[in-house]
Amino acid sequence: MAAAEPDMEPASAPCSEFLNFSAKDTAARWLTAVDLQQDVFRHLAVYVPRILCLGPTGVNSREEQREELACQLLLLAPLEWLLLGEEPAAGLARLQENNQPSPLCGHVFKVGEPTYSCRECAADPTCVLCMQCFLGSVHKDHRYRMTTSGGGGFCDCGDSEAWKKGPYCQKHTPTDTSRDTEEDPVAQLPADVVARCFSIFSIMLRYAVNLLTWDQEDELPAGLKPPDRADTFYCMLFNDEVHTYEQVIYTLQKAVNCSQKEAVSFATTVDREGRKSVRYGDFQFCEQAKSIIVRNTGRQSKPLRVQVMHSSVVAHQCFALKTLTWLGQIIQYSDGLRRILCQVGLQQGPEGENSSLVDRLMLNDSKMWKGARNIYHQLLMNSLLMDLEYKKIFAIQFAKNYERLQSDYVTDDHDREFSITDLSVQMFTVPSLARMLMVEQNLMSTIIRTFVDHLRHRDLQGRFQFDRYTAQQAFKFGRVQSLIGDLKYVLISRPSEWTNQLRLKFLEGLDAFLELLKCMQGMDPVVRQVGQHIEMEPEWEAAFTLQMKLTPIISMIQEWCCTDEHVLIEAYRRCLSALSQCHSGLPDGEQPISLNLAGHCVETFRYQVSQEKVSIHLPVCRLLAGLHVLLSRTEVASRAPEQLPLGELSPPLLIELPLRCLVLCAQVHAGMWRRNGFSLINQIYYYHNVKCRVEMFDKDINMLQVGASMMDPNHFLMIVMSRFELFHIFSSADVRKRYREANKDVVQQNNTLIEEMLHLIIMVIGERYVSGVGQVAPFDEVRREIIHQLSIRRMAHSELVKALPENGNKETGLERVIDSVASFKEPGVTGRGLYELRPEWNKHFNLYFHHYSRADQSKAEEAQRKLRRQNGEDTALPPPPLPPLSPLFASLVNLLQCDMLLAIEGAVLQWAVEPSGGGWTESMLQRVLHLVGMALLEEQQQLENSSIDDDIVTFNYTCKITRPGESPSPSGSVLALLESLQNAPHLEVHKDMITWILKMVTNIKTMRERTSATSSYTMSPGAGQEETARDRDKAERKRKAEMARLRREKIMAQMSEMQKHFINENKELFQQSLEELEASTSTAAHSSSPGLVPPCVSQVCVGPRRVGGADQRQLVTCILCQEEQEVKGHGRAMVLAAFVQRSTVLSKNRHRSLPNPERYDPVFQHPDLSLGIYTASCGHIMHATCWQRYFEAVQVKEQRRQQRLRGHTSYDVENGEFLCPLCECLSNTVIPLLPSTPSPNNSVDHPSLEAWINTTNQQIATLHSTYRRQTDGAAEEAEPEAPEGFRVDFTPQSSFSSSISEMINTFSLSTYKVTLKLNPNDADPRVPVLSWFTCAYTIQSIERLLMDEDKPLFGSLPCRQDDCLSSLTRFSSACWTVAPLKTTHTHFIRLFKALVPDSQDENTPCVIDIDMLHLLVYTVLSYSSVKSLDQCGRSGVDSAHLHILHLIIVAHMVQILLTSTTEDVCMDQDSGGSEEEELTCQLYDTLRKHLGSALPEVTSGWQLWRCVKAAILPFLRAAALFFHYLNSTAPPADLLVAGPGQWEALCSYLSLPCNLLQVYQSQHTLMELLIHRWCCHPDVRRSLQGGGVIVRFPRESNRLIDLPEDYSVLIYQASSFTCPRSGGDKSRAPTLCLVCGAMLCSQSYCCQTEVDGEDVGACTAHTFTCGAGLGLFLRVRESQVLFVAGKSKGCFYPPPYLDNYGETDQGLKRGNPLHLCRERYRKIERLWRQHGIAEVIGHAQEANHTLITIDWQHL
Ligand SMILES: [Zn+2]
Ligand SMILES: [Zn+2]
Ligand SMILES: [Zn+2]
Ligand SMILES: [Zn+2]
Ligand SMILES: [Zn+2]
Ligand SMILES: [Zn+2]
Ligand SMILES: [Zn+2]
Repeated sequence: MAAAEPDMEPASAPCSEFLNFSAKDTAARWLTAVDLQQDVFRHLAVYVPRILCLGPTGVNSREEQREELACQLLLLAPLEWLLLGEEPAAGLARLQENNQPSPLCGHVFKVGEPTYSCRECAADPTCVLCMQCFLGSVHKDHRYRMTTSGGGGFCDCGDSEAWKKGPYCQKHTPTDTSRDTEEDPVAQLPADVVARCFSIFSIMLRYAVNLLTWDQEDELPAGLKPPDRADTFYCMLFNDEVHTYEQVIYTLQKAVNCSQKEAVSFATTVDREGRKSVRYGDFQFCEQAKSIIVRNTGRQSKPLRVQVMHSSVVAHQCFALKTLTWLGQIIQYSDGLRRILCQVGLQQGPEGENSSLVDRLMLNDSKMWKGARNIYHQLLMNSLLMDLEYKKIFAIQFAKNYERLQSDYVTDDHDREFSITDLSVQMFTVPSLARMLMVEQNLMSTIIRTFVDHLRHRDLQGRFQFDRYTAQQAFKFGRVQSLIGDLKYVLISRPSEWTNQLRLKFLEGLDAFLELLKCMQGMDPVVRQVGQHIEMEPEWEAAFTLQMKLTPIISMIQEWCCTDEHVLIEAYRRCLSALSQCHSGLPDGEQPISLNLAGHCVETFRYQVSQEKVSIHLPVCRLLAGLHVLLSRTEVASRAPEQLPLGELSPPLLIELPLRCLVLCAQVHAGMWRRNGFSLINQIYYYHNVKCRVEMFDKDINMLQVGASMMDPNHFLMIVMSRFELFHIFSSADVRKRYREANKDVVQQNNTLIEEMLHLIIMVIGERYVSGVGQVAPFDEVRREIIHQLSIRRMAHSELVKALPENGNKETGLERVIDSVASFKEPGVTGRGLYELRPEWNKHFNLYFHHYSRADQSKAEEAQRKLRRQNGEDTALPPPPLPPLSPLFASLVNLLQCDMLLAIEGAVLQWAVEPSGGGWTESMLQRVLHLVGMALLEEQQQLENSSIDDDIVTFNYTCKITRPGESPSPSGSVLALLESLQNAPHLEVHKDMITWILKMVTNIKTMRERTSATSSYTMSPGAGQEETARDRDKAERKRKAEMARLRREKIMAQMSEMQKHFINENKELFQQSLEELEASTSTAAHSSSPGLVPPCVSQVCVGPRRVGGADQRQLVTCILCQEEQEVKGHGRAMVLAAFVQRSTVLSKNRHRSLPNPERYDPVFQHPDLSLGIYTASCGHIMHATCWQRYFEAVQVKEQRRQQRLRGHTSYDVENGEFLCPLCECLSNTVIPLLPSTPSPNNSVDHPSLEAWINTTNQQIATLHSTYRRQTDGAAEEAEPEAPEGFRVDFTPQSSFSSSISEMINTFSLSTYKVTLKLNPNDADPRVPVLSWFTCAYTIQSIERLLMDEDKPLFGSLPCRQDDCLSSLTRFSSACWTVAPLKTTHTHFIRLFKALVPDSQDENTPCVIDIDMLHLLVYTVLSYSSVKSLDQCGRSGVDSAHLHILHLIIVAHMVQILLTSTTEDVCMDQDSGGSEEEELTCQLYDTLRKHLGSALPEVTSGWQLWRCVKAAILPFLRAAALFFHYLNSTAPPADLLVAGPGQWEALCSYLSLPCNLLQVYQSQHTLMELLIHRWCCHPDVRRSLQGGGVIVRFPRESNRLIDLPEDYSVLIYQASSFTCPRSGGDKSRAPTLCLVCGAMLCSQSYCCQTEVDGEDVGACTAHTFTCGAGLGLFLRVRESQVLFVAGKSKGCFYPPPYLDNYGETDQGLKRGNPLHLCRERYRKIERLWRQHGIAEVIGHAQEANHTLITIDWQHL
């Protein structure tokens, strides 16, 4: 056989046999069968392969339907008949009717569907509601969170355990008829149905399970062998997560010879379903494909999995899946049936343990393909998890198999959502189930042990070691982490009641957990690197990942412990013993050293952080610290502290490791660990980070507090000093001196260390906001965090949330306190809502707040001082009042007055007194002052609280500081030192604080003297601080001025550099231009701007009476060379940077496809304006030559960039794009500046309309024959007589210099290129038309914008737009000069013929199909070229303009009357009737005469006139703009303001009668003739009778689509949106077009299409049909606006949806409910309508270069 055998045809369906099949009869036969299974199997063996042999690859949907139908009729229907004993539809309906459903909703979520969780009532964040249930629940008025489902999981409505309150929505509230959950639903079914159901379910479920777990490719289970076996096989390709889409697609093309498109489709299915047959044929044929695939993909990695499977095996597997789906559907009808299926599924098989059908599925889970897993998981959710009783049994089975399932998952390469282990969330989060599993299956220990088992990298001491672990291990590590998630579920809700069993199992679990922590204790130790920098950054992330994942678990375990005193004490004991084991190696080695100072003596380890190993990971210590704090909260602690297992470990041992860790941080800050690289810096960062600190840094501080509270404070401080390696500095003055003379680095290091140590002491004494340490509520703790965050600056809600640690429920507690401490500031249109600290909380500010980073601290300090200055207060930042300590920690205060601290304070103050040495710092002093302040506050507080009778205030700091210092430096007392420092000039900054302290001392003394503790003292603001404030302000101002100066200088330097460059390059030219300039300045310049001259009497902008266009001189400055230049026709060309783009903003027809560039005829624009060309400019002017040089430089830079292949630009140089050199605005061409039109020649005649038409007709005839002669050289016809003075052979003199002409050409060609996407071709006759096109369209767009924003027509445009329109219009009027005359003549002739038709010309569209503004602009501008041949000089061009305007106005009125009147305008409103109304009626009657019944009958002249007036207004306004810019006529005053009188002013400005109908009436005969001709055009009648889109006037402005108020509505819509290309599949990135409302399947292979030979994503493809290459979208899942322009540009933009805190949620990470902010949406809309999107993209890409690298075209 030849290798190239074609794919085989599928067996044709034996239709007749199928038709004769009777399900009822078959069921009847089965009912009497001896062995039902055998009979059913025989049936399946025959039919399944015949129905489900899919044949070759592509199965079309018709075939799929046929197959579906056959399955139902031949395979499932008999089963249903058998089951129900009657017609299935009727039977099922009866079942459902009698069903008493459980109140569970159980709605299974689709991917991307919105889910809601109540933040107040949900038991944990995994409890969610579907949209319907949510809307019907009480929670919609609570604080809720909204997220999008990742698929799977179901609605928890009705589960009373999931909700603390309101478990039922309206729909699922249990009624009387609903069944008691305890009752057996099977009892409600007829006995015979139950019996049959059991047997059918068990046969079919076993069948399905057998086949899905079947691993033979060529054989079938017994009883299923097909009667006639054919040689037909499938080559089945399986999914893996190793190979990329591209690899698979490429391989398939090679292996099975398919097209790219088919390969993409295969790959998509494989990815979605997990497997797909890619070839059908005989065995050989399939084997061949298999070997190619394996060979091709096996080179670098494991090859793709491919199996050659017999067609019957595949068919049965397909049917097995259908069976599962069928079972899932059947049980929906009855809870009884569901219960039976559960029983069948969990019934133990003959093999005993783990042999039930469900067990078999679970245990084979990782061997199945994705599609199969999905279907059976779905069935489990519909059955077992919906039945409360069986959910329990299933949970037990699941827990029994837990280890095995997890191990399978760890080695499986599918994502967790496709694994059976993912179901854990459904059971473990149910508190009663979790607790039951914990007690009966020892679940907590099982999970932890499984976890520990999978982490096998250990060092010699048995600690985890992740150093240099391989990618595969990393992958495994990633997978194992999901176990922590399970543990979290189990622990998430604390028990309200404990049983002994639970205590036992929990403590057993805790033991396992302590084993885990012991493996972490001391991992990743570091040793200080001296001399050389480390060679390789050590691995640290894995350890921290582990720490981070475990953090919530550790917290939860503590929460569990604190609910039961017995458990807590026992846990503490076990933790303590675990710590002792960890410490066993600690005191070994050398002799302890003993420290002596000021009469105190203590022994400690001989250990130095800077020289020996130290580790940041101390989870055992930290758990103990946590438990200790909890103990302190218990009653036992106050009642009988001796019962606590304290004191089993010596305090010095407790503090040792945490202290080392804190010293490490201090040394890192001091720069001692620089050579240890970034890995250490990162670790220190995370140690303090909000994600870890709760169970790291915070607990270390707690442990020091624990230790200090149990030790002599002097001993504690001595050990601390010793660990900081500072002991000798304080113990002997000599050492100190020696250090001061030592090298600078050491001095600095020691200074930092002292600062850090003082800070640590402050924290140990002052950090009391943990319930247990201080007497505070958890509430206070959060509030204090917020106060300190807001002391730095105002913050948005999300910033605050980020700064606070989350609990297991992802809550921070923020909402409970925020309103009491802060006020909310509403967001503007761009900002976000911010919280500001209420002033009464300022006094709680603590500069040494332990969670401040150094940067935070200095920012907060600055902000607070500034605030105090503003309030006229002194700038001292004294310590805040502190809450009292808990009894267990009460002795901490003694640290404040112990000898050692006094000695330290004395020493630092002494150093400050003699400042010359440099061996001290202000920070050091500041900290000492803070400590002194704390001590004084403590004393004051104690005095205040002591009652008369119990008068022993032991705390007597004031007394102690008056004693002279003892050692090492026998100096004055602390108080004396403070007094001498008070006026030290070098301590100006601290003066206020010292004053505060001294006042405080006096206060306390008075208090003691009075020995009454009632008076309270307030501090009066110290004198003199105002002065310092003023000084400081002055300094600040000076600094700012200096900064501004530097900035300016920098800019100037850049500019002059640029100029120099230009001047050097172009010396001669500049010389010349300088001379020119000098010459021209001699003639005085007047009025440099052509702008708005004060209006004089009746300004007219068109026609012979027009004014303006004077000989104003216009002087402009080049932004590049800074030279001034006059705009002159013969001068050097000046240009305006401009950006030309296609636009569909005004389009009334988005279905019209983009024009074919080759055949596009732009001479007549359709009024639907489906495509426009918009020109914008930033208004910056350059010499043409300067610009050319600049652009060349840009090109060269780009070439160099391309060579290096690095960096990107936000602009496309090849398409002529560049950034404006001044403002970086995206530009793609330049508009030349031209002088204004000369004033009208008043000496010429003004011929009548008729005369003008006649002359023009003659001129046209002359031109016609001339051109015909030129082309044909044909026989001489009777040559028409040329009008007088009209010389066809005349060549008009160009009024422009060559440089200007060149620039005119440049802009014309850019417009051409942008519009048609063709290479520039100046011979193309369309070139001038396109220039007129952009002029007309730009004017039209701007007119719309002004109208919609209620702005006056003139005077409200920004300068740059004004300049742009003016140069654009002048340019358009001149662009004919660079085109061949014949071209513009031909255009004029065509345009003129549309207005004054003679015979029917095929090429002329009818009057309905022409946009009149474009017609006006083109006709007026092209007329100049005809007029230029007229040498008689009898009439001016102006009268012609007016005639053209008149003609077009009548044509437009006709157009309006034809298209825009409807019957409902015909309401009778006849009241007298003005002249306008009568004339309008008359005109309308004329039209009806021509067109008869095609027009509705309208009798009301008033209505008609009103309609005409409204419809023609936009045209008149645009025409006024056009003539204003063309003729430089100042606008009348009435048009400079919005308001009444616009119509009259407009008409008079345009030289029109207010009654426009007079234009028609005054030339009645002529007009009647023209109207007749217009109406005769066959298209008029055709259009009116419904052939094609009719545009009505006035055209309504386009808006962006309406968006729903509630964002979740959008999410819901998007979740039901399916990809239009891949058969009902959910789209991964549904994206909404904001212009037309289309929903697209973005960022996905399935919906890529080809545009101009390139694959683009759905969004980009859509922009070409909807927005001419530009698009605005809303990415629904991301809550993000997307702007795209062309194929390569795009940016993201904040969405118009805000949460209640005035913030957007890009990426939908926070889940706060989002609501539409109309102002923001309007802002986006305005951006679009102003054609500003491309510019926004440009700026965004310039600001953020990563945006350039995004593959926008595939979105
Ligand atoms: Zn629901
Ligand atoms: Zn519900
Ligand atoms: Zn609620
Ligand atoms: Zn210049
Ligand atoms: Zn600019
Ligand atoms: Zn798609
Ligand atoms: Zn669209």
